[in-house]
Amino acid sequence: MASQPDVMDKLVSLCKRRGFIFQSSEIYGGTGSVWDYGPLGVELKKNIKDRWWNAMVRSRDDIEGLDAAILMHPRTWEASGHVAGFVDPLVDCKTCKGRFRADKLEDARCPQKPSKQPGQHDACQLTEARNFNLMFKTYMGALEESASIVYLRPETAQGIFVNFLNVQQSMRQKVPFGIAQIGKAFRNEITPGNFIFRTREFEQMEMQFFVEPGTDMEWFAQWKQLRMEWHLALGLSPERLQFHQHGSGELAHYARAAFDVTFDFGGTLGFQEIEGIHNRGDFDLSQHQQASGKKLEYFDQQANKRYLPYVIETSVGADRTTLAVLVNGYREESVAGEDEGRVVMGLHPALAPIKAAVFPLTKKDGQPEMATKLADELRRAFNTDYDATGSIGKRYRRQDEVGTPFCVTIDSESAGDQSVTIRERDSLAQVRVAMDQVRGWVQERIAL
Ligand code: ATP
Repeated sequence: MASQPDVMDKLVSLCKRRGFIFQSSEIYGGTGSVWDYGPLGVELKKNIKDRWWNAMVRSRDDIEGLDAAILMHPRTWEASGHVAGFVDPLVDCKTCKGRFRADKLEDARCPQKPSKQPGQHDACQLTEARNFNLMFKTYMGALEESASIVYLRPETAQGIFVNFLNVQQSMRQKVPFGIAQIGKAFRNEITPGNFIFRTREFEQMEMQFFVEPGTDMEWFAQWKQLRMEWHLALGLSPERLQFHQHGSGELAHYARAAFDVTFDFGGTLGFQEIEGIHNRGDFDLSQHQQASGKKLEYFDQQANKRYLPYVIETSVGADRTTLAVLVNGYREESVAGEDEGRVVMGLHPALAPIKAAVFPLTKKDGQPEMATKLADELRRAFNTDYDATGSIGKRYRRQDEVGTPFCVTIDSESAGDQSVTIRERDSLAQVRVAMDQVRGWVQERIAL
């Protein structure tokens, strides 16, 4: 059972009010389980993606980046097994006409009696489960006929497999090496929900690491550990993170071994997958080799042998990680000497959408001009907000709620001593810093 409180409703409302996440096409009543990232949300998600890209691509010489197209040759999805097998078991309720995923009934609510799960209410009449393919189908070109069917990719991984030799040869990489990409994926989920946890359009950050068969379990263990360290370094609480090992009945058709990194989202949602780490063997490359008729073998010059590498995959959702970071960061606390408490979004400074907010304490003595000048200078280096409205306490609260780690105040002394007060979000500590040092001071503390 989850031990963490359920903050989801409060979070959904904060995200809307403060410009993190809006429901898609809200003025038309919204699109089911599709969300738009507002000004602060796009910064937060971008910071998470940048952190992943830095860890996976820029800081290593054995992983290359890729940005493959969403639309791929339809035979890709036959070879990968998605046309035949990317299905979830679907049940209908003849009474309420609701549709549910048969293997996730415990996560769903009966529309007629939300305290129960589908099938538990007397009036429920669930049908037998049948397979429902999750891929979105569309047509390429002007003719709507089967010859022109294409799919919106349900995962980014296949774009990596089909480019395996292009990347290896153009970058003169030697196995073991990896290919990483960030991009949109689409799944026509039967029961999406829980805010941005399960949506029909989402972003994945995937890395396929190609290794010599026989070394795969060693690499699998290494990637499992590295990925957990990455989540911890985002600031996610250690007690909220766990591995879940897939048992033999749970393993996907391609997987030789799999672990999920799970995060405790609190409330009834509890621990849920945020990342999958899989040993895919040579399933994908051999499928594509067979279906395309093109050799995808790697030639090991030193050993003078050819082979299809095995693949260790790490696949993490950018949106699910964003939700985990928000849930993890949200807290309400009392403030000594004040009646009203504060809501704090305790984000890691590297992830915070706004790094620093600059306030003139009053509108007198040229303080707004000095503050504007400083904010402009800081903006050149990182995202900075300027706020001159309301009491200083209110301005602090506004920034706390969106996770701004540092508030910089220009006061009546600033003109004389050319320094400012920086207040730290979590400790509430205040330090006096020379005006020309502020940029460096903040930059040191927000490094990716
Ligand atoms: P689930 O069992 O939750 O449907 P999955 O095992 O099908 O997930 P993978 O195919 O392993 O998920 O995808 C890798 C990652 O992509 C997941 O860990 C998750 O973070 C993200 N992801 C998958 N489906 C969705 C979705 N519908 N909405 C948001 N993120 C998703």
